[in-house]
Amino acid sequence: MEKRKRLALVAHDNRKQDLIEWVEFNALKLREHQIICTGTTGRLIEQQLRSSLSEEQYGEFEVIKLKSGPLGGDQQLGAMIVDGKIDLMIFFWDPMQPQPHDVDVKALLRITVLYNIPTACNRSTADFIISSHLFIESYNPRIKDYSNYINREVKM
Ligand code: PGA
Repeated sequence: MEKRKRLALVAHDNRKQDLIEWVEFNALKLREHQIICTGTTGRLIEQQLRSSLSEEQYGEFEVIKLKSGPLGGDQQLGAMIVDGKIDLMIFFWDPMQPQPHDVDVKALLRITVLYNIPTACNRSTADFIISSHLFIESYNPRIKDYSNYINREVKM
């Protein structure tokens, strides 16, 4: 991954406030990277960044907004990971409430493990990621070799 990271940010409704506070605290760092969000999270993060940064600092910055999570946004993010278009993910999912799209959330988290995407599901981990020197350096994550799986014999 390049120095400028492609960072996915998502939060369930009960955790959006936590993520917005984290974005407010880290606004200056975040504007150096590309931010990709599910729909509602993205709208709130954009609002927060516009108020945390001066017009000059915000400049041409753009928050990429996908569909809302329950409408397929998590699946869009998963597809972007498979296509190598996301470097890191901060996903504050709700541990206390079932979601209508729980299966999509599970699928997204599985894909992040499969593709070795650094993923934070709580604020402390997000703090560790954003304060790592790797956050602003290029980095080559090791991708597990699944060629044995791809070439496996399938009995018919
Ligand atoms: P939202 O989706 O940002 O559109 O609220 C988040 C999610 O539920 O995955």
